[in-house]
Amino acid sequence: MVRAEGVRKHFGKLDVLKGIDLTVERGQVCCLLGPSGSGKSTFLRCINHLEKVDGGKLTVDGQLVGYRQHGNKLHELREREVAERRRDIGMVFQRFNLFPHMTALENVTEAPVKVGGVSKADAREQAHALLEQVGLGDRAHHYPAQLSGGQQQRVAIARALAMKPKLMLFDEPTSALDPELVGDVLDVMRHLAADGMTMVVVTHEIGFAREVGDTAVFMDEGVVVEAGDPRQVLVEPEQERTRAFLSKVL
Ligand code: ADP
Ligand code: MG
Repeated sequence: MVRAEGVRKHFGKLDVLKGIDLTVERGQVCCLLGPSGSGKSTFLRCINHLEKVDGGKLTVDGQLVGYRQHGNKLHELREREVAERRRDIGMVFQRFNLFPHMTALENVTEAPVKVGGVSKADAREQAHALLEQVGLGDRAHHYPAQLSGGQQQRVAIARALAMKPKLMLFDEPTSALDPELVGDVLDVMRHLAADGMTMVVVTHEIGFAREVGDTAVFMDEGVVVEAGDPRQVLVEPEQERTRAFLSKVL
C-alpha cells in the first residue's frame, strides 16, 4: 500500500528526510517511532500529498505520489487530482481538529456530502454507524466543546473513516490526551486494525506498537535506524540509538 525508496525531503538547507526506505503491505499496521524532529510527521505528510517529495520514490497503492503516469511520461498532478488521491487517505492528527461549530454527526457527514457526492440521508445513516463504531453513538448531537479530548479524537477517526479510505495515517493521535483517555482511542485503532485497515501510526505507545503493529520502524535524524517485527525492534533492538530512545519513553 505504501512503498518508500530513498525518499528525501529538505526545507531550505535542513535535510529532514535523508533517504527513507519503508514498505507497508495492504492490511498491515506500521508503527513509526523516533525522537522529536526525526521527520516522522514530514514523512506522513509526504504520503498524504501535504509535502512535496524532493527525491527518491514514494508510491501509495502503486501510484507515484504527486504524479500521474501517461505512457512512460510523468505528469505532475493537478490540484483536483491531488484532492482525488487524498480522498483515499484518512489522517488523524495530534490535535483533534474538528469543526467547532458542527456537531459530531455533522463533522462526520461533512466530507461525504460536500466532496463525496453522498446523499444527506445516506451520509447521516453512515455517520451514526461510524459513531457507534467508535463508541460515541450517544454523542452524535454534541459539539466538540461538549466532548472530552478522547471523544473528540474518536470523532476525528470516524470523520476520516467516512470517506472510506484505503489507508489511515495517525500522527501521535494520543499524545495530547489526558492519560485516562488514551485507552479508548487506542481501542478504536486496535479494532480498525483487526478489521484489516492499512495504517501508519506515529506513536510513542510502545505497548500498542508491540501488540497491534505488524512492523515497527525506528527513525532518527531523517533515516530509518531499525525496522522489523515490533516484538524484536521494541523489545530487543539491535541498534544502540533505538535502545537509548526506548529507555527514555518506557
Ligand atoms: P517529528 O514529527 O519526527 O517530530 P517533523 O517531521 O515534524 O519531525 O520535523 C522534522 C524537522 O523538520 C524538524 O527539524 C522541523 O523543525 C523541520 N520542519 C518540519 N516542517 C517544516 C517546515 N514546513 N519548514 C521548515 N522546517 C520544517
Ligand atoms: Mg511529529
